[in-house]
Amino acid sequence: MIYFDHNATAPVMREAREAWLNATEHVAGNPSSPHQYGAAASKAMIEAREKLAAFLGCLPNEIIWTSGATEANNMAIHHFAQVLDPKAEVWVSPIEHPCVMESSKHYFGKRVKFIPVTHAGVIDLDWLTVELGDVRPGAVAVMAANNETGVIQPWREALAICRQYQVPFFCDSVQWLGKMPAKGLGECDFLSGAAHKFGGPRGIGFLKVPAKSHVTPLIVGGKQERGQRAGTENVPIIVSMLAALEAREKQLARSEHILRGVWHENFERQLLHKLPGAVIVGAGSPRLWNTVSALVPEGSQLRWVSKLDKAGFAVSTGSACTTGKEEPSHVLAAMHFKAADAHRVLRFSSGWETTEADWDALARALAKIHEETHHGKAHAEA
Ligand code: PLP
Repeated sequence: MIYFDHNATAPVMREAREAWLNATEHVAGNPSSPHQYGAAASKAMIEAREKLAAFLGCLPNEIIWTSGATEANNMAIHHFAQVLDPKAEVWVSPIEHPCVMESSKHYFGKRVKFIPVTHAGVIDLDWLTVELGDVRPGAVAVMAANNETGVIQPWREALAICRQYQVPFFCDSVQWLGKMPAKGLGECDFLSGAAHKFGGPRGIGFLKVPAKSHVTPLIVGGKQERGQRAGTENVPIIVSMLAALEAREKQLARSEHILRGVWHENFERQLLHKLPGAVIVGAGSPRLWNTVSALVPEGSQLRWVSKLDKAGFAVSTGSACTTGKEEPSHVLAAMHFKAADAHRVLRFSSGWETTEADWDALARALAKIHEETHHGKAHAEA
């Protein structure tokens, strides 16, 4: 089976597994405990915090460990709801992950304003510049890269515009981290990430908040994380996340993603050639080297997924969270795709271990399924 669903979750890489095993065996204490076991756990956690802060370019005490990105994103939006003026709006891109969309609607209701997105899946920076010149929202949220389409968002530019108007900028960097260099992300006022998208373990993520802000906890209890998130920290998975990120940053420093980008482009060319009528979603926009989102020419997306599954390829219909649901993707809707077209979308997301031969095999499998479907239809019509 070849796995093409890394944007949903990625296999735990060797470095992360070894770090987890080592910490589980040798760092057994609770970081809040007042003895040597506690001190060892606390030291390991401090080191991990310092490493993450160094990769992102922020201060270690700006990082709060969370159970993943859903919690981190909820925490950020909840924080805005606590500290902002009760009339303040939040401006959110309409292609955010449901955990940002839903928590924004939950806490801000009608005070959520959506930033327009082009047909190529990028937020409209001109709109943001013009509107911010007029009105100041309480916060702006734009993700670094989209999980469904892989389209890279101009988060640096959006951050700069928000800075100019002193509006806090929140960036969900889940799909960027570990695939693109982390450098500079820490400049975003609020930033979230999760380990399991880049080879770390599931169940661990973080929220970066500015040092001057103190987040009202979503989970109350003990005073862990400087009183911002109660509960004993899971040191082995924290250490494991950093081992994964360190390994990914090394690969990125060696530019290993560039060649993978070439395989990605070759696959797209093959796909368009072998499946007449297929459309690449977000074509023309800068996209992550690992993600291809495509409208397939015929048949329901679930049939394609099931046929590919039988042929030995794990692919997805879009985000893992919408799989199996009837509603078309909110991301494609924001990109002005018709509902009928949105139902034809397939997402192929590779990982660092995916080879050129894997991409080629996927292209051949798609061509074979297309031919069989086509012949089947022609046969039925004859
Ligand atoms: N944000 C983005 C962009 C995602 O892709 C995901 C997961 O798919 C999340 C947030 C939520 O992450 P988790 O399910 O790990 O909490």
